[in-house]
Amino acid sequence: MRIAIIGSGYVGLVAGTCFADSGNDVACVDIDERKIRMLQDGQVPIYEPGLEELIRKNVKEKRLTFTTNLAEGVANAQAVFIAVGTPEGESGEADLQYVIAAAQAVGRAIKQYTVVVDKSTVPVGTADKVREAIAKVTSVEFDVVSNPEFLKEGAALDDFFKPDRVVIGADTERARNIMGELYAPFVRTENPILFMDTRSAELTKYAANAMLATRISFMNDVSALCEKVGADVDFVRKGLGADKRIGYPFLFPGVGYGGSCFPKDVKALVTTAREYGLELDLLRAVERTNERQKKLLVNKAVKHYGTLEGKKFGVWGLAFKPKTDDMREAPSIEVIEGLIGKGAQVIAHDPVASHAAKRVFGDRIRYAELPYDALEGVDGLFVVTEWNEFRHPDFARMKSLMKSPVVFDGRNIFQPARMREQGFTYFGIGRR
Ligand code: NAD
Repeated sequence: MRIAIIGSGYVGLVAGTCFADSGNDVACVDIDERKIRMLQDGQVPIYEPGLEELIRKNVKEKRLTFTTNLAEGVANAQAVFIAVGTPEGESGEADLQYVIAAAQAVGRAIKQYTVVVDKSTVPVGTADKVREAIAKVTSVEFDVVSNPEFLKEGAALDDFFKPDRVVIGADTERARNIMGELYAPFVRTENPILFMDTRSAELTKYAANAMLATRISFMNDVSALCEKVGADVDFVRKGLGADKRIGYPFLFPGVGYGGSCFPKDVKALVTTAREYGLELDLLRAVERTNERQKKLLVNKAVKHYGTLEGKKFGVWGLAFKPKTDDMREAPSIEVIEGLIGKGAQVIAHDPVASHAAKRVFGDRIRYAELPYDALEGVDGLFVVTEWNEFRHPDFARMKSLMKSPVVFDGRNIFQPARMREQGFTYFGIGRR
């Protein structure tokens, strides 16, 4: 099938590459000329494990192309996916300007029946708005489908190739058939394609992210209580997760959720509900807990040192989670801004996100090429992202480099007893 993907970011690039890899002829479109030039030159503008190799293979086999020319990319496509950003608007709502602009451009470019797919995360009712925007500029037949994306950065290819489920909101048989055909290679192990109406599909995506954020905030609340009552959140987490009705995933306490989705999607869902006269109190509390949690490590540090003025700290991990270079709403921003705002110096290391972090912090902090380089002469280390390579460091080497061996472990990657044995002053989250 010939398809076009509008927006070549984390979602568009992965979706386009995976559809190409199952034999489709895919044009990835973006308005960002620098991004498209890089892709045409064989470079990948984002870090996502395995993506570069898969792009190279599909480009070589001539199924995957990149262009800034939307009309050219969309010409003869049977399905056009809109995968542009939906950032937070001024009052917490999802800003739809990129989606609508893309929809209008697609409307002007289509020449025969086309399925236009909302892949971006968009509020309930957006499929109707996209339909209106397209109908205004074309008399060609088309359908609008809502097909939210559930991939996780860092494991995006695996998630796309083997999704737990594919959600498709479509009103016509014709659109359902095309979407079913496109996704058939990815659901061979009986993971379901769930067909529904567009509004239910749109809401499913927000409800899923809101539920995951709720689990995180819930565990962060439990971890705060653990600290107060002298319990250990690790035991509590295991005891909870073993209950099949609860399960283990997303029960890790930490420095709060971040990234390009959870914060904005929780806000957008609260805002949508409010537009309909409904106050989602639970999600407001989820957000409040998250705000508190992002400040936790710095508060612990202030309590320990008295003042942070003139202190120097190492930070391990900048990306909002491991295996990505995405810095959007990363908890490291709140931690580092907190430290430098209180007069401390920061030297940070991240395996892949330093270049993205430079756009956030500029030269207000220093960047270390290797983890141990971020430890020289520091008064303490903050672990903010749980990259695998941080899990088993040479503790003796760490201690010899640090001015004082104090660790604030925002992801509970180290064992408190072991740290104490090694002579560290250790602060975790919700642990004894
Ligand atoms: P992104 O910012 O990485 O990419 C969006 C791209 O769209 C950018 O490259 C931008 O230049 C391009 N763009 C904007 N307007 C355009 C236009 N008119 N024509 C062509 N290109 C245009 O965003 P992302 O992280 O890929 O997210 C895209 C959508 O998918 C969002 O709605 C997001 O909420 C959702 N989503 C993201 C993830 C994730 O993990 N990143 C997961 C699931 C869903």
